[in-house]
Amino acid sequence: MASEAVRQRMVRRLAAQGIADERVLKAMGAVARHAFVDGALAAQAYEDTSLPIGLGQTISKPSVVARMVELLLAAPALADQPQARLGRVLEIGTGCGYQAAVLSHVTREVYSIERLRGLHEKARANLRPLRLATVHLLLGDGMQGYPAGAPYAGIIAAAGGADLPAAWLDQLAPGGRLVAPVQSGNAGQALVIIDKTNRGVERRFLEAVNFVPLKSGIA
Ligand code: SAH
Repeated sequence: MASEAVRQRMVRRLAAQGIADERVLKAMGAVARHAFVDGALAAQAYEDTSLPIGLGQTISKPSVVARMVELLLAAPALADQPQARLGRVLEIGTGCGYQAAVLSHVTREVYSIERLRGLHEKARANLRPLRLATVHLLLGDGMQGYPAGAPYAGIIAAAGGADLPAAWLDQLAPGGRLVAPVQSGNAGQALVIIDKTNRGVERRFLEAVNFVPLKSGIA
């Protein structure tokens, strides 16, 4: 299949760009990104670019998805199990469902929440044929997290606000890691990772990123 070869080329590019975690490279190679975007954009699906998914939202670049999932898997709780799956994960911003599908390959369970009904339904339709029994799609305001599924071994956000909602940290398990874009002073958005360790909460700012805004309420 042509898309398979193009996707494996994308995986080799990700490895060349520094993604080293085999779990992540395998997951990126397993999920058909072209099946998550409109037909007219499918030819671009394996380029390293973000693409529109409707309602003013975008699917992140493959390199950003791979980078964030790699960071998530480096959670303190998994430090001595470099091959293992992460436990239960909360994703804020389901969008078209692509990253949720990637996460299903490297975690035991995924709760993914989206505030826009149109995208929640699009993700449902995109994921249905994949029959991923461990992915749970929720319509709701992810700024509240999703307490019913807590605590989470990992939390990953695909939308960025001025601050990290307190609910996310509350719902993170000991040893868990949160990866999210957040406003970083006047410098624009940056990725932040937060680890809940037995020494306390540790926060680290990483590279600049450019995610859609985190908004409250459902629409
Ligand atoms: N992971 C997605 C990326 C989608 S873009 C994918 O693979 O396609 C980010 C998404 O976050 C948008 O769909 C936007 O509607 C959603 N979003 C923004 N604020 C939100 C909130 N408070 N709760 C849930 N979703 C939110």
